[in-house]
Amino acid sequence: MKGCKSVRLAVYADGRFVISAPKWYPMYVINRFIEEKSQWIFDKVKDIDFDSLHQKRENEESSYRKSIGLARAVVNSRLEFFNRHYGFSYNRVAIKNQKTCWGSCSQKGNLNFNYNIINLSEQQRDYVIVHELCHLKELNHSHNFWKLVAKTIPDYKKLKNELKKVNH
Ligand SMILES: [Zn+2]
Repeated sequence: MKGCKSVRLAVYADGRFVISAPKWYPMYVINRFIEEKSQWIFDKVKDIDFDSLHQKRENEESSYRKSIGLARAVVNSRLEFFNRHYGFSYNRVAIKNQKTCWGSCSQKGNLNFNYNIINLSEQQRDYVIVHELCHLKELNHSHNFWKLVAKTIPDYKKLKNELKKVNH
């Protein structure tokens, strides 16, 4: 059948395993699949050091809790500073413990920032803030969007490249 996906199984480095199957798949088929794969799953997770993973997560959590106040203060003040130029309106500003990105902007005008933003250089940090701020007007990466960013961060290209090399 075309477009008919089968059952798939993925094991992640943190020990999670995720099984995906088409919606119409009967549960017993999926259960049987897991049973058949149980040795394979076991082999994959048996060498994972769950204690150190747990410790790592705890450390991250505690540094998040310690940094969130400062991150919020810095982000709010820089947002206000740059928005004197742009004059956009935004909703909620949240400081998150997110792995995937430095910042994001939702369609509802909510801005999210990674708390690790306070560990960036001032220029890099300001670029992230202006980037999300400009998404309030242009929710894309069009030419107009970058023109908007360049109004307050003329060397945004350099900063954008630098950030690609920094871990979150
Ligand atoms: Zn963007």
